[in-house]
Amino acid sequence: MSKKLLSVLLSTAMVAALLVGCGNSAAETEAPATEEAAPAEEAATEEAPAEEAAPAAESNGTKVGVSMPTKDLQRWNQDGANMQSELEAAGYEVDLQYANNEPQTQVSQIENMISNGANVLVIAAIEASSLGEALDMAKAADIPVIAYDRLLMNSDAVSYYATFDNYKVGVTQGQYIVDTLDLDNAEGPFNLEITAGDPGDNNAPFFYNGAMDTLKPYIESGKLVVKSGQTAFEEVGTPQWKTETAQSRADNIISSFYADGTNIDVWLCSNDSTALGVETALANSYNGEYPIVTGQDCDIENTKNMIAGKQSMSVFKDTRTLASQVVKMVGQILNGEEVEVNDTETYDNGTGIIPSFLCEPVFADANNYKELLIDSGYYTEDQLQ
Ligand code: BGC
Repeated sequence: MSKKLLSVLLSTAMVAALLVGCGNSAAETEAPATEEAAPAEEAATEEAPAEEAAPAAESNGTKVGVSMPTKDLQRWNQDGANMQSELEAAGYEVDLQYANNEPQTQVSQIENMISNGANVLVIAAIEASSLGEALDMAKAADIPVIAYDRLLMNSDAVSYYATFDNYKVGVTQGQYIVDTLDLDNAEGPFNLEITAGDPGDNNAPFFYNGAMDTLKPYIESGKLVVKSGQTAFEEVGTPQWKTETAQSRADNIISSFYADGTNIDVWLCSNDSTALGVETALANSYNGEYPIVTGQDCDIENTKNMIAGKQSMSVFKDTRTLASQVVKMVGQILNGEEVEVNDTETYDNGTGIIPSFLCEPVFADANNYKELLIDSGYYTEDQLQ
């Protein structure tokens, strides 16, 4: 195919996707694999962490290896279960593995998937750059690799990337802070602290940059003050997104800079697991007025905290939507069809731009969670009690 035709196809796909959004994009693809897929809504969301897969269709003999980072965080359980049930419903055999947040375990699991005859690999990496050997093996065996949610870095074995718009996640958090504190009109100054994600996860700087690009003008003008002085990504990151690590850093900040009861007005947290750590630290040792706390994922504990007023917002990334998009990609790859992408500029993995499909993140808070999370079947009311 000529480059020109490819770029016309890509930009058509981009416009179409922008018009309809990620969750409703079936209209612009002819992939048989997705038309047969079970509706994502039914995919293992009744219980979260989701464990049960929908009944499998008769296998067509094609194997898909799905490698997930850990069972520790709710979202990856949902991602894995959604992928499994949708892939099985489309007739694929699925080899789903969780790597316990150990990069070497993930390498071995992927190598096993390859030895066991996987035809496509879908990988959410623990560390963006740590899967080199396994990815080389996939390339040598001509197995297409889809990076799932997190980009796989520094490997030319990666065919496609499907994720949410990570920069927009950060912008959504930042803009929420701007709007809630009315930073354009209020006098301030307001105290801000920042907790970001795992430096080993390529998504983490996107979240951070999206939020910080939005907040920076107010930090520079002095309307937002970071009393800890810790603003650089290297200073505010949370290895492996661990709740306990986020908590102990927050404990230190509270005791070093806010022990006298000075208010923290806002705590920017990149995701829900880190927000949970900050919320525990606030509950344990903070005496000022409760701050705005941001998050991402709408995990159950965090959604409960939103309802209870301990977390202000979360960015909802419907894992059913991403799973559906990836199942669509798998079908398109296996059928030799044009793979639907909507971004061919943003994600360079060190070997060049990886054609990507970015799903739309959505703002969630105590006012709209019912509609977003319960009415859509993502959670039951009971799960949030
Ligand atoms: C995901 C987030 C998640 C974080 C921790 C990121 O790569 O995009 O949704 O909160 O990892 O698991």
